[in-house]
Amino acid sequence: MDIPFVHFIETHNDLYLFDVNTNMISKVNERIGKYLSGHGKKEDLNNEDLMVIENMKSMGMLCPDQIERIEHPMSDFIEDILENSMNRLTIQVTQNCNFRCEYCVYSGSYYNRVHNNKRMGWDTAKAALDFLEQHSRNSSEINVSFYGGEPLLEMDLIKRCVDYCRMIFKRKKVSFNLTTNASLLSDEVIKYFEKEKFSVMVSLDGPQEVHDKNRTFADGKRGTFNTVIERIERIREIAPDLLANVTFNAVLDDENDFSLINQYFSQEPIIKDIFVSANYVNETNRKDKIVQTNQKNYIEISNQRFIGLMYLMNRVSRDKVSKLVVRELSDIKETISKRKVSKNVMQPINHPAGPCLPGVQRPFVNAYGKLFPCERVNETCKDMCIGNIYDGFDIEAVKRFLNVGQVTEENCKRCWAFNFCTQCGVTSDNGEKIASEARLEKCERVRNHVDNLLKDYIVLKECGCDFTQSI
Ligand code: SF4
Ligand code: SF4
Repeated sequence: MDIPFVHFIETHNDLYLFDVNTNMISKVNERIGKYLSGHGKKEDLNNEDLMVIENMKSMGMLCPDQIERIEHPMSDFIEDILENSMNRLTIQVTQNCNFRCEYCVYSGSYYNRVHNNKRMGWDTAKAALDFLEQHSRNSSEINVSFYGGEPLLEMDLIKRCVDYCRMIFKRKKVSFNLTTNASLLSDEVIKYFEKEKFSVMVSLDGPQEVHDKNRTFADGKRGTFNTVIERIERIREIAPDLLANVTFNAVLDDENDFSLINQYFSQEPIIKDIFVSANYVNETNRKDKIVQTNQKNYIEISNQRFIGLMYLMNRVSRDKVSKLVVRELSDIKETISKRKVSKNVMQPINHPAGPCLPGVQRPFVNAYGKLFPCERVNETCKDMCIGNIYDGFDIEAVKRFLNVGQVTEENCKRCWAFNFCTQCGVTSDNGEKIASEARLEKCERVRNHVDNLLKDYIVLKECGCDFTQSI
């Protein structure tokens, strides 16, 4: 028998087999596990074992690895989609900022990127919006986001862009987003954002001792927490409709106390009702390696995950679930429990999961008018740029980014985590180009993550979870 393309998952008591070609999961006994992994003999199997194996085969399981070539299924369609179906653009109105956050990609903690005073001029902003208009003929809704540096340093430009959007997209539904440190939210700006129905994402890491550790003003001497909170209070007082469209972005630093942060976001008046998106410090291209060794945090995060799993089991109420672990619950529910299961999941020409459609899902234009797949990319890496607003998309660069798995083709073709991989061009950047080593050094962590998601899913299923709870 050819070696089947499977991965074994051990839970506390049982052994499960994840079949990569079909995405199916089956409980198997130890004898079957040994045999299918090439460590046991067929003679050791009894009749019942043989029937189980035949049954799995009849469902399309246990086939060998069938991937012949790494190529993204959207490669032949992406050019057409980009031509007429864009529906969003994030605009970097400035690279300057009045904060100096330690883990900001422009802080000097990362290779190649440092703060500078580059501002986007009106000509570039107008050309970016014209570019979006020319490439969105099939879209009825348009979203424009403003990003920095700190975008509020360029409020006049933002207002001019909004007016221009209202004019050129007058037959479409237009919405606006902004990511800000909040310090420059004057009363007038707050009222303006409420009138224009902006969604505003504010960077806030937790209580003062946590937030001020990494987020200081540009003079490096003063923490920014009090200013941010004072502005949030002000939004509540004068623009309650805007408050409903405010979310927080928290960067989690393992040196901080997770339980303090969790308590703050779940109990602090005003804050507790606002959605939080939590991310760990960005490690790609960082000069120093981040090692998570905080045992107290590990235990607390595990506790909060456990409560989250209990929620999925309908054993605790939603308000007991930490906002900081919601994304992981969503991964179990949306990625694993809703995975496509069929004989045809794996095609001979295929690409690992991970990359978005560059230019479609989160296109980003920087202050110079260069186009990138999203705002998380390293703008100084040549393989990240996918064109510019004057000459249009560089389709070869778009396809290279979409097909990033080709740089690790032989590894990806044999990888059991293929369908749930989370790597894209951003994680494959070595500071200068897309490079196999940059990608491969993250594979073990990706596979551990997927293994844990599958384990959590299986255990929840064993306990009767039907994944109907909303997250
Ligand atoms: S991080 Fe990667 S997959 Fe996500 S939007 Fe950016 S380029 Fe796309
Ligand atoms: S984990 Fe690594 S080898 Fe596996 S699919 Fe992702 S990039 Fe490829």
